[in-house]
Amino acid sequence: MALTVPAGADLAEARLLIGGEWLRDTTGGAQEHLYPGNGRVNGLVHLAGAAEVDLAVRRAHEASPVWRGLTPDVRRDLIARLGRALLENADELIRITTLEMGAPHRFAQWNPSYAAQWFAYYAGWADKVEGTVNPPFPARGMNYTLAEPYGVVGLITAWNAPLVFIGMKIAPALAAGNCVVLKPSELAPYSSLRFAEIALEAGVPEGVINVVPGGPDAGAALSQHPGVGKISFTGSVPTARRVIEASAATIKPLALELGGKSANLIFPDADLDQAIPLAATFGLAAMSGQGCACLTRMLVHESIHDEVLERVKAQVSTYKMGDPFSEETTIGPLITRASQERVLGLIERAEQSGAGSLVMGGTRPTDGDLADGWFVRPTVLDDVDPDSEIAQEEIFGPVLSIMTFSSPEQAVQIANNSRFGLAANINTRDLSLAHLLASRLDAGSIRINGHNGMSASAPFGGYGESGYGREGGRAGLEEFLHIKNVFIALPDTLPDPS
Ligand code: NAD
Repeated sequence: MALTVPAGADLAEARLLIGGEWLRDTTGGAQEHLYPGNGRVNGLVHLAGAAEVDLAVRRAHEASPVWRGLTPDVRRDLIARLGRALLENADELIRITTLEMGAPHRFAQWNPSYAAQWFAYYAGWADKVEGTVNPPFPARGMNYTLAEPYGVVGLITAWNAPLVFIGMKIAPALAAGNCVVLKPSELAPYSSLRFAEIALEAGVPEGVINVVPGGPDAGAALSQHPGVGKISFTGSVPTARRVIEASAATIKPLALELGGKSANLIFPDADLDQAIPLAATFGLAAMSGQGCACLTRMLVHESIHDEVLERVKAQVSTYKMGDPFSEETTIGPLITRASQERVLGLIERAEQSGAGSLVMGGTRPTDGDLADGWFVRPTVLDDVDPDSEIAQEEIFGPVLSIMTFSSPEQAVQIANNSRFGLAANINTRDLSLAHLLASRLDAGSIRINGHNGMSASAPFGGYGESGYGREGGRAGLEEFLHIKNVFIALPDTLPDPS
């Protein structure tokens, strides 16, 4: 028997929300939403085409003078109100997150409160958008800068944590004074739409937040639209290349949050009681391995390899793969059947080519409740070749690759042997070594002896093919502002009153 969803938990129709009005029967057509837990149809997603994207951009421009015209304190209070509204509607949003992308409740339950933190944080910036005063030369006078919103920005998001992206993108975009057109993934648009509806209920003016679920055509239309001042994109490297191409026509600035292959360095003096649960959780369990910053490459000093491997096996054995709605479930299904097949193929090729030895997992359930869902058993590969496909490609499934190093120098070399550069963790009690490594690792986020949970107050983003631009902190606000300089010529002397 296949897994079922709780009674009344159907997702039904996902429409578009443009200028405060719901739209269906769109030019992009429609596609069925499939629940990853059992592969069954659980909704219908209306897809934006170029016409609806254009309408959303126009409605956003109409709303722009209204949103920009509010005094900063009013915008601040509305953004803070959005954070509270996320918490007030958390139960419903958690259920939607589980249904739309199969996130285990354990993970989904963290999404609304995490997004709320970003709204609380960026509400605090809304009344602190400042310029500078600069001494000009050779001309005499005064320069001052204005930090201005782009007007309308386009936000394109991945399916793996839609509410998280709303916090990371919409909160700073609004704080900077922009109106937004959000194109969530066609695979999981429901929580984004419900959020936009909640925002209307909370008093955000119509047209400030527009949501246009859609696929590649809608994404391309938004990326090339002359009325969009900037695109903030979260997704894969191949799609980012399409966004770059489409944006070239209008020389549109971009922020790109892309994939990762993050390394987790474990030195002999590390506190393994703390390091191993974290390594396994963020290596393959969190988001069922479908996270951009998952620590998928575990780099272990050769002297502690055997002990670490035993501890990893023990830790992963405690994870329960199962019904996303069960509070006990640690690992849920992958987003699509294609994803499941891709991940299993990567594991199989690694084994067959001798790129790594399979320690556990590597298969999918073929009978019982989970057989119809898109599950992959938590998988650990040991002795992985750092140059192999499994060590180089983003897997986006519950797969951890273990490699060894013999010196800090070699650890850095293996860690930096990646075209990605999103995050890296360091586990050692030697803080001099840790700081030195932090300066040598090519990644946008370094964590030493722990995890910062991607705080709203800290910049997050990539090196290399993990992208450019930052989310979080002042840097995340500045992504949504451009700087204008104003020069005032001043005479050398005071005017003669006569
Ligand atoms: P994806 O690249 O397939 O899709 C991302 C978004 O782009 C979706 O909304 C999709 O509809 C849209 N899109 C598709 N074709 C487009 C086009 N031609 N033009 C414009 N937009 C288009 O990625 P995904 O499968 O949804 O998400 C997984 C990827 O996202 C992984 O690579 C993951 O690492 C990455 N990701 C990165 C971060 C980060 O913060 N760095 C966070 C989460 C996910």
